[in-house]
Amino acid sequence: MTTINSFAEQLLTWFDQHGRKHLPWQKNRTGYRVWVSEIMLQQTQVITVIPYFERFMEQFPTVKDLAQAQSDEVLSLWTGLGYYSRARNLHASAIAITEQHQGNVPKDLDALIALKGIGRSTAGAIISQAYNNPGVILDGNVKRLLTRLHAIEGWPGQSHLDKQLWQMATDLTPTQRNADYTQAIMDLGATICKPKQPLCVACPMQDCCHALAQDKVASIPTPKPKKALPHKTISVLLLKTQQGQTLLEQRPSKGIWGGLWSLPEFVDLKALQTQLAVNGLPTNTSPVTPIKHVFSHYKLTIEPHLLVLDNASKKVSENNKSQWYDPQQLHTIGLATPIKKLLERTQ
Ligand code: SF4
Repeated sequence: MTTINSFAEQLLTWFDQHGRKHLPWQKNRTGYRVWVSEIMLQQTQVITVIPYFERFMEQFPTVKDLAQAQSDEVLSLWTGLGYYSRARNLHASAIAITEQHQGNVPKDLDALIALKGIGRSTAGAIISQAYNNPGVILDGNVKRLLTRLHAIEGWPGQSHLDKQLWQMATDLTPTQRNADYTQAIMDLGATICKPKQPLCVACPMQDCCHALAQDKVASIPTPKPKKALPHKTISVLLLKTQQGQTLLEQRPSKGIWGGLWSLPEFVDLKALQTQLAVNGLPTNTSPVTPIKHVFSHYKLTIEPHLLVLDNASKKVSENNKSQWYDPQQLHTIGLATPIKKLLERTQ
């Protein structure tokens, strides 16, 4: 790492005028607050993250509070943010930090990377942003900026390009004003060198940007080669009582929507009706408008089937994986967003 270089100097001059300096996690900076914000900001924009971050900090002000929480409490605060493995990893790492680091978020790269859900760039951001020690980051915003600045073609996820970009990021990162620099480079990527329609006219790097000089801004970074996503259809049972309670099942902790509450799932309507008959329940379900959801690796169509039981036939008993929920309890548990929307729509 260099002490200061002309790139860093130009960037810091821009940051002093235009950078973001009042984000909630920039106040009262601690390793914990920066870590939580960095995890929430993965794949998610600042504007979306702010209310989630504030609610999370109110509920779990310290690593210890998070470590002692029930997984349902953590997941309920994550409902709507997506990528739920982030919340599960955050919770698991809070327990590890409490047990192995006396509740203090580590300050060194290797100890941070050893925790679940923390990669090299997130570790660099924590070191830099929380502790103002020299840290290097290479998140999506920085990758896009560097590939454009150097007109690097080819999908940046390829290992040889990833290695090259890490080297560039390391060479450019100064030791002085390191926290401001890492914030500045993230801000420039997020607010000026945006994925679509970057604001090159307002960019402090326009004179040294190779993509701009070569008229390749729109085509760099090269997108990930697309594979056609497979499509899957499932049926879910929307089982309700006359009083409006709904039967929910907790999903296994691993896999899609791991640990969240959802509706009982079946491969198709026939399997759903067979299960109802086995339980001695009526099979005359009514179809509800299907929901479509796209995951990173497949597309899912969920076909809900509604059955309202009268009290006398509420024969479905609860166990530790399935429970009846009143409408007002639904905001206290972790629910997958499409299921939450369905439940709201069918109250
Ligand atoms: S000039 Fe445009 S493409 Fe180049 S770094 Fe700046 S915003 Fe990005």
